[in-house]
Amino acid sequence: MPSDPRTGTCGYCGTAGEVTRDHIFARSFFPPPLPNDPYMVDACRECQEKKAKDETPFRDFLVMADTAASLSSEAEALRPKVRRALSRNRSPQLAELRDKGIMKPVVGRDGKSLGRALHVPADSVPINEAIAWMVRGLIGNVASRPLPDTFDIIVNRYYPYEFAELRQFMSEFPFYGPCRVGDAIRFWYVGDSQDEFSSLWVLGFYDRAMFSTMVAPRSQLEPASSSQSSVCTSTLSTLGKCSPINRGRR
Ligand SMILES: [Zn+2]
Repeated sequence: MPSDPRTGTCGYCGTAGEVTRDHIFARSFFPPPLPNDPYMVDACRECQEKKAKDETPFRDFLVMADTAASLSSEAEALRPKVRRALSRNRSPQLAELRDKGIMKPVVGRDGKSLGRALHVPADSVPINEAIAWMVRGLIGNVASRPLPDTFDIIVNRYYPYEFAELRQFMSEFPFYGPCRVGDAIRFWYVGDSQDEFSSLWVLGFYDRAMFSTMVAPRSQLEPASSSQSSVCTSTLSTLGKCSPINRGRR
């Protein structure tokens, strides 16, 4: 249930006006029981609606189609619910996902066949957008003000066979975490004392779909570098100072 509207500032877009408390990680990502201490941020209705349009297909993709995340026990627990929602939902976005998908055999971690599942090309899912909403929400929570539009968020996906590379990346910076959100989501972060927004985040869904994100002023991110780590080292000069993230209601 959304909380009662009140006047405040949206943690995603910065508009002042009517806001309600928003779950930064939507409840639809979690099989029961839901996390009892969710991460929240004030949000305007428009941002909550736009965010839902990105996060729902992303959740559906992770649970139904993603070659890594869909093998997790959490995804398995959510699948009947998502399947029912998909069969009821007639949105053009989801129809497009289904049209682009190909049925492929799925093999479990033990090498045994798990039947067939719909595989959808990742570029047809708003993955980066969904991750960026979550990171914006976390920054709105930590900094108590929204990320200015002079900043960009760069998202990078890691598959299980790239986890060694991810561990190497994380060992280069003083990451704080893991912060756990139920059993389904974990995240780590490191801030920069230069400003309250520049930061690195690693978000993990169902332990199998990992994303690193870098938040930095757009001017420092152009032109695009060949290596994310080298951009981090040059733009985030004073990593390590983090503000704590507030959980639940304020
Ligand atoms: Zn907003």
